[in-house]
Amino acid sequence: SVEIVDVHKWFGRNHVLRGVDLSIAPGQVTVILGPSGSGKSTLLRTINHLERPEIGHVDVGGELIGVRPHGDRRKELPEREILAQRRRIGFVFQQFNLFPNLTAVENVAVGPYATGRESRESAVERARELLTQVGLSAKADAYPRQLSGGQQQRVAIARALASRPGLLLFDEPTSALDPELVRDVLDVIRRLVDSGTTMVIVTHEIAFARDVADLVCFMDDGVIVDNGSVADVLDDPRHPRVREFLTRM
Ligand code: ATP
Ligand code: MG
Repeated sequence: SVEIVDVHKWFGRNHVLRGVDLSIAPGQVTVILGPSGSGKSTLLRTINHLERPEIGHVDVGGELIGVRPHGDRRKELPEREILAQRRRIGFVFQQFNLFPNLTAVENVAVGPYATGRESRESAVERARELLTQVGLSAKADAYPRQLSGGQQQRVAIARALASRPGLLLFDEPTSALDPELVRDVLDVIRRLVDSGTTMVIVTHEIAFARDVADLVCFMDDGVIVDNGSVADVLDDPRHPRVREFLTRM
């Protein structure tokens, strides 16, 4: 499970997360919606400690993320331990973030073998399987520049799966894509949903959100103003900011 407890984050004087609480059960798919600048990416990034909250904490699978108790305060974990935690949490970015000088299969395999957890041979073999799973077996030896945005994003998803994470985070995985490429990527994510992986997905694809979400969270100005099932939050929106957002979409 994922427990986000009273998380606050400031960038300088900008109070970006203003007390976020969220509890996600194993296997649950949580979709985060909300206007631009409301803090969705920042919240997602606190889950794998790409951002450190000044107040509050995140707990994944019963383990505090990024910090350990230190008297009545908390102390940052050593980088090595933070990286180990991050390997158990897959992150898919809006802009793919593939290594341009590595082929698709190398992009997927590099994490597991560079850290010495797997031999190069077994990492590459598994990478080929993952690329098949995302429909890209024929592109395994292509470089990112030779792939469409949708194909690059599917490589990024395969890469996120390479370390067998218990939790997958997606930050607007389709919003950098041309419209005709969105579906292939959403289909891949949908298959992961069916496989029962715990996921948190930030997206503006409302139809997709309705389809996959066990829990919908609506963020506005650094807080979750409403959360619940699709029926609770979206079908008959009780919160004025949600109503306004949905009519603008
Ligand atoms: P979008 O839908 O546009 O992606 P968002 O909901 O993901 O928006 P965030 O990216 O989390 O919003 O940003 C929330 C606020 O934090 C914004 O005011 C933004 O300018 C600010 N912010 C985000 N990252 C940083 C940073 N690294 N340094 C300073 N300010 C930041
Ligand atoms: Mg964002």
